[in-house]
Amino acid sequence: MKIGKYTIHTIESGDLLLDGGAMYGVVPKPIWEKSSPADEKNRIHLKTRHMLLISDAKKILIDTGSGKNWNEKFEKIYGIDFSQHDMFPALAKIGVKPDEITDVILTHLHFDHIGGAVVFENGKPIPAFPNAVHHVQQKQYDWALNPSDRDKASYFNERYVPLSNEGILKQYNGDFQFDEDINLIVVNGHTPSQQLVKISDAANTMFYCADLVPLASHISFPFIMGYDLNPLETLREKQNILPQAVDENWHLFFEHDPKIAAGTIKHGERGLIFDKTFETI
Ligand SMILES: [Zn+2]
Repeated sequence: MKIGKYTIHTIESGDLLLDGGAMYGVVPKPIWEKSSPADEKNRIHLKTRHMLLISDAKKILIDTGSGKNWNEKFEKIYGIDFSQHDMFPALAKIGVKPDEITDVILTHLHFDHIGGAVVFENGKPIPAFPNAVHHVQQKQYDWALNPSDRDKASYFNERYVPLSNEGILKQYNGDFQFDEDINLIVVNGHTPSQQLVKISDAANTMFYCADLVPLASHISFPFIMGYDLNPLETLREKQNILPQAVDENWHLFFEHDPKIAAGTIKHGERGLIFDKTFETI
């Protein structure tokens, strides 16, 4: 798919398993397990999925997936698995080398979004995309350095501090226009200053939902993750953004859905429903 000057590719960088109850908050299991069957530990399957935007001048990656070099216990708990999908092979498949990435837009710094921003050499984290400027919101970065006891299990300094030390992390305050085709929109329900990516031209809009709408089934307003620090804020953000997506026929891009990469939505009798869905874009 092409929007503005960018050709948009889907990159899948890995699989993981997260607690189904935590992924659906107050929604009862008999309702969510239809779309997200759980394993014996009540975990559901998620992917880490990215957009790669290619123009003549730029190769922009959105988020970096979980990345490697976790300890065995951590990998086991979260079912982190690269046997089916992996970042560097996925990039190689479309002829892109890691050092050719010019920009990495980081929606936020939870491990499954930032982990792949570094690789380890002799046990030391170094940037996986050394020539890229990495873009993050300052409030998210500050929070990541000093998270609450409730969400600190999602943050690992060694995954993002090296980017700052190398001088390749650029921080922003609030919504901003990245270029004529890309706008970054800040939301705060999931975590302070998560930035979502809207790519649009006169004909089409693609919207990278990140953890505002992690799985396709989360288009339903009350489907809100237990992980969110401010669930009512997430609700307001979805009620604000998703009707606009209907009106303007945006393609919503899902970072974590195991099957559906993107979809357009419409109003149904009992809330928002899908118009069309796509396994790749
Ligand atoms: Zn998150």
